[in-house]
Amino acid sequence: MRRGRLLIIVSIGLTIAGLLCIPFVVAQAKAVGFAGTILLLLASTAGIMNTLCTRRELHALIKQVQDAAAKKQVCRIDAISKDFIPLADAINDLLSSSAQTVSDATLRAKELEIQLKVATAERQHAEAIIYSISDAVLVTDPFDDLVLANESAARTFDFDLARAGRSPVEQVLKDDKVIALIREMRQSNSASGRRIVEHSVKGANGAERTFKITLSCVADKQDQNPAGVVAVLHDMTKEKEVAEMKNDFVSNVSHELRTPLASIKAYIEMLIDGEADDEKTKTEFYEVIQNEANRLSRLIDNILNISRIESGLVKINKQSQSLTVIMKEALEVIAPQAKGKQITLSEQLTPVFYQTIADRDMLYQAVLNLLSNAVKYTPEGGAITVQTEVNEAKKKVMARISDTGVGIPPKDLPFVFDKFYRVEANSRMAKGTGLGLSLVKHIIETVHHGRIFVESTQGKGSTFGFELDLAE
Ligand code: ADP
Repeated sequence: MRRGRLLIIVSIGLTIAGLLCIPFVVAQAKAVGFAGTILLLLASTAGIMNTLCTRRELHALIKQVQDAAAKKQVCRIDAISKDFIPLADAINDLLSSSAQTVSDATLRAKELEIQLKVATAERQHAEAIIYSISDAVLVTDPFDDLVLANESAARTFDFDLARAGRSPVEQVLKDDKVIALIREMRQSNSASGRRIVEHSVKGANGAERTFKITLSCVADKQDQNPAGVVAVLHDMTKEKEVAEMKNDFVSNVSHELRTPLASIKAYIEMLIDGEADDEKTKTEFYEVIQNEANRLSRLIDNILNISRIESGLVKINKQSQSLTVIMKEALEVIAPQAKGKQITLSEQLTPVFYQTIADRDMLYQAVLNLLSNAVKYTPEGGAITVQTEVNEAKKKVMARISDTGVGIPPKDLPFVFDKFYRVEANSRMAKGTGLGLSLVKHIIETVHHGRIFVESTQGKGSTFGFELDLAE
């Protein structure tokens, strides 16, 4: 390398010296003589030749480098003369090390591209999971901006899911408590901890729903600082209602069982204390005890039947049955009670060949409960009509039990099929448990997939009925 440079400098030097010597040669030719002149001319010509060769070599090298650059390919640069071999080697070294750097960078870029694709797929997967969750999910970043939410969250907090992304959480949610919970969780810096809070949220329709809110921090992988907060809101409204209903049921059952038991105990104590000295009073006491014991047994039967149907433990034996036959049997059983109150029974029943697929005992129990209520809540001298009606086009059979009794006030009508519901206005008319209609509804709707209905006018009478599918 150093030798090449030295040669170039020497050539240039000789050329300049040659050129400078020309006037001197002409002027001094005579003095120096012919041999000296020739020597000087040779020196200057050699210098010029040398310079021309060096330029040609350099041009050839530059051309090769330019070609390589134009082709965007790494090729070897060859030196024409050995003086330029070090320069060509240096250029080749530089080119191959650049080629290596470029190929490393290309490889890294490909790796990053794959990583990006995997990360995008993972994000889409996580989003799909979050969107499919029925619980409301909110994800915020370290600045309390909402980065992700699902439809359930949008419904719960009444915001537009498409426009909520990357907005401050206090602009999206109108619930101060939830905003404060998210902020507190982020500030707590707890990378591993979870917080579970019960909170009621007011919906767009004004109805309050109770949620179990689970809050956790999303930790940053690098510095372990919380990168945001995830809040999952599980709607517990239904669960709470069921828990309350269970509590109500237990307290209602205990209350209903205690009343006849207390009465039985009291009459037995009076008998033991000898408070009934004559046979007539004793018989009266025995009758009260018997009635209360029957009431207790009916109550227990009803509770057991309802809970067996509700829990799905009841054995159902469905066969082709004629509703008309079942209605006739129930009418026969109820006739003595109706006669005792001078209530007229009349029937308008369809031919027995119309059949329905039913559990005979259960359907009989439902019809008997409706008939017994009709007798109970109809004053003396009233009338009860039982009716069956077939709609062949719709393949339905309908039963109606109408009475001219006390009727049910409109405010009570929607609740008469609820467990333990008794109409206050009619409570003095007859004793009861408030379980009879609930059992009928279960038998018709849960067991037979039919439809139950009631129409009533206070003071005029009621019609209870149900509709079942006709057997093919
Ligand atoms: P209960 O044992 O009290 O009769 P039910 O569940 O059979 O319980 O009925 C619930 C309530 O519906 C009754 O307390 C009664 O007030 C009302 N009810 C039921 N059937 C009739 C009817 N035919 N006429 C008027 N009220 C009725």
